Amino acid sequence: MKWHSIVVKLGASILLLVLAILLPLGFIMNQIFSGFYFSKVQEQIDDLSSRYAESINTLDSQHLNMFEQLATLTGQEIIIVNKEGVVVANSGIPSLPKGEKINSKEFDLLSINKATQKEYYDEINNRRYLSVGKPIYTDRVIIGGIFVLASIEDMYQSVDMIEKSVTLAGIGAIFLALGFIFILSRKLSNPLLEMEKATRKIAKGDLNTRVSKGTKDEVGSLAVAINDLAVELQRYRSNRREFFANISHELRTPITYLEGYANALENNLYQSDEEKEQYLQIIQQEASRLSKLVADLFELSKMEEGKIDLHFESVDLVEVVENALLKTTIKAKEKGLQIDFNRLTNIPSIYADGLRMEQIVLNLIENSIRYTEKGTISVKLSKELNSIILAVEDTGIGIPEEDVPFLFERFYRVEKSRSRDFGGTGLGLAIVKQLVELQGGAITVKSKMRKGTCFELTFPINRGDVQ
Ligand code: ADP
Repeated sequence: MKWHSIVVKLGASILLLVLAILLPLGFIMNQIFSGFYFSKVQEQIDDLSSRYAESINTLDSQHLNMFEQLATLTGQEIIIVNKEGVVVANSGIPSLPKGEKINSKEFDLLSINKATQKEYYDEINNRRYLSVGKPIYTDRVIIGGIFVLASIEDMYQSVDMIEKSVTLAGIGAIFLALGFIFILSRKLSNPLLEMEKATRKIAKGDLNTRVSKGTKDEVGSLAVAINDLAVELQRYRSNRREFFANISHELRTPITYLEGYANALENNLYQSDEEKEQYLQIIQQEASRLSKLVADLFELSKMEEGKIDLHFESVDLVEVVENALLKTTIKAKEKGLQIDFNRLTNIPSIYADGLRMEQIVLNLIENSIRYTEKGTISVKLSKELNSIILAVEDTGIGIPEEDVPFLFERFYRVEKSRSRDFGGTGLGLAIVKQLVELQGGAITVKSKMRKGTCFELTFPINRGDVQ
């Protein structure tokens, strides 16, 4: 495990958090407990010392003996001193034997009628006591003092126990955190490491690499995202391969024609002037197809890189369609096709590039003419709440359902030979889609084999022009 790994960082944070909670908690518990115990004991011996002080009125030994006995019964110890501060009674504190003088400071306090309170440590029996001292009076004259001492050893033992429990809990928390780190490292870092390996393999070009999906959390979604990325890269790679194969194929076909017929002309391999004329026509057609292909490709790549200049303005789609119809009616008539257009007058304008819009409509109508043998082509404009819909519908050969999702890809053709026969390059719809999207629109297609096809464009209404 690396020291800077997420798991170690997380584990250390958890550990710190546990300790940060446990240590102050232990300290507070300790304070509360010892404070409570102290004040309880203090109250008790304070009360007891007052009673003793009140009951003692002479310091004769018989009297004192009785108090010593009494003290043994109460479980607290007493020390009685005379007015010189010399111990005259002791119920069981070895370090203060009878005849010994007590600390003068304490006695001074008693002699000026003040109670004393302190913690006392007996070195001989190694015990700690809480002591309260009170003066003893006879006829309002101080004749000595009494100290009641309660052992606080039990309290210290309990405090010790609390400290030990907190330490134990702390150690337990450390082990718990270590266990947690271990489980986490398996749960979290293993899939991450697997993903790291997989992405490195993908980066090296092994695009068949996949990560196991694992859990349904963020880590799982990351695995899914990596797999999606690999699929996308794979598609991109095969698209690129296909694109280059297509390009060379598309270029090769007209070049072969050009070479062949130019050779035939050069070597006078024609039988009549008519045949020569035919050859020249083919050369012309192929040359213009080649230049259209190169121009389309150039335009498409510019669009894909976002390098195309669009001149946005308020565009009247009725005008756009009419211009496109002017240029296509002759072609339609040649094939015996009719083009209908619902010239609505209340169509709001859209914000787009007028010439590019015409290019889109022209392309769709030309396709409809190209792939329709008989029937009608209808162009319809309609208005929805916030958008304008432009539909180009034909009664042509239709597009198989399985081809529809790929229709807008470069060089995609339904039947490979079919569109070439019709003079297409396979780039038209790719260009249309790019242009539509660059102008904020969307394009969809519905088609039924042998029934016809309908391309639908949706553009948002120009905001200043909503009716
Ligand atoms: P092309 O220049 O070959 O027509 P497009 O990108 O314009 O290329 O169209 C892609 C393919 O979609 C065409 O090859 C054709 O098979 C199909 N297609 C496009 N428009 C129509 C339509 N209106 N009816 C039937 N098929 C169509």
